[in-house]
Amino acid sequence: MLLNRFEKLRRMLMHDIGIDLGTANTLVYMRGQGVIINEPSVVAVNQKTGRVVAVGGQAKQMLGRTPAHIVAVKPLVDGVISDFEVTEEMITYLLNTAQKNNRKLLGPRVVVGVPSGITNVEIRAVRDATRNAGASEVHIVEEPMAAAIGMRLPVKDPVGSMVIDIGGGTSDIAVISLGGVVRAKNLRIAGDKLNQDIISYIRAEFKILIGEKTAENIKIAIGAVIPENAPLEASVKGRDLVTGLPREVVITDSDVREAIGQSIGALIEASREVLETTPPEVLSDIMNRGIFIAGGGALIKGLAELVESELKIPVHMATDPLTAVARGTGVILEDMEGFADVLIQSEDELPTS
Ligand code: ADP
Ligand code: MG
Repeated sequence: MLLNRFEKLRRMLMHDIGIDLGTANTLVYMRGQGVIINEPSVVAVNQKTGRVVAVGGQAKQMLGRTPAHIVAVKPLVDGVISDFEVTEEMITYLLNTAQKNNRKLLGPRVVVGVPSGITNVEIRAVRDATRNAGASEVHIVEEPMAAAIGMRLPVKDPVGSMVIDIGGGTSDIAVISLGGVVRAKNLRIAGDKLNQDIISYIRAEFKILIGEKTAENIKIAIGAVIPENAPLEASVKGRDLVTGLPREVVITDSDVREAIGQSIGALIEASREVLETTPPEVLSDIMNRGIFIAGGGALIKGLAELVESELKIPVHMATDPLTAVARGTGVILEDMEGFADVLIQSEDELPTS
């Protein structure tokens, strides 16, 4: 790429940083280096002093284990900014960590990915928080758009692409064409909901109470939305609801399938609804090119196959689905002018769904 003198100078003075502000994981992309931070979206705050004591993995370990005056919070519950100050602290921490060995004269140019259901108030909150955290320039992109760009889909062309990004708190379903989101749905059925489904099922069926982390481990180890060749099993330790004592049971992939069946069905139903309102030309593009799935939640076994057989459209899994959004912000940073149209402009901030 031919860089003009102004662009070369700008790059000398400031870093270019992309942030995927996920409900489960926050990723930071640095132009020239790739994904440099990948941490759980958790912040631990000392309530006596109001100060942040830990961020990311360190803070996640404190969840449910903190003394009374320290609270571990997820700043982005269900994809909305639940706590502005904490979000700002987290972004400050991320920008500081990203630049710690190599500060430049000016604050970075930052592209932040936000869930597609986000309101104007929240967009402004993210913008302000990122500026307050030291950014010279802040650009906002909707996560499904960033995911599509990260998967190198031709988002700017007059051809329809469909993306399903299944995260922790929310799933984004979006149809993109000509640099814009043509149809979208944002729903609160994603990885966390599947964990809750597993907790409820084991409580109802086995009378055992398990924690969220245990449920997530079960989901990842033996969760399969279509039966695998051989049955899968896992032993689970929890608290017996009758005796109050620890007890262990063995559960199978078919237990997990039953537990999460309704949520998976709702996710597919929502995708069907998006397709039903998609204009015919765009729909025919999608039928030819397929549906692209991303996000950690997409990794549950058999999902691509099930969606494909339910919607009768080929389904492709992103390579490295957990980093698609962050890599997309990186692609945008390489060509800000080319991607100007896909960004949410500050004057006319508006959600698409
Ligand atoms: P977000 O963008 O909301 O931060 P991510 O895309 O990082 O979310 O995905 C996090 C979700 O992915 C979690 O709910 C996690 O349990 C789930 N997940 C990660 N790996 C797997 C896997 N191998 N199988 C099933 N679910 C997974
Ligand atoms: Mg995400």
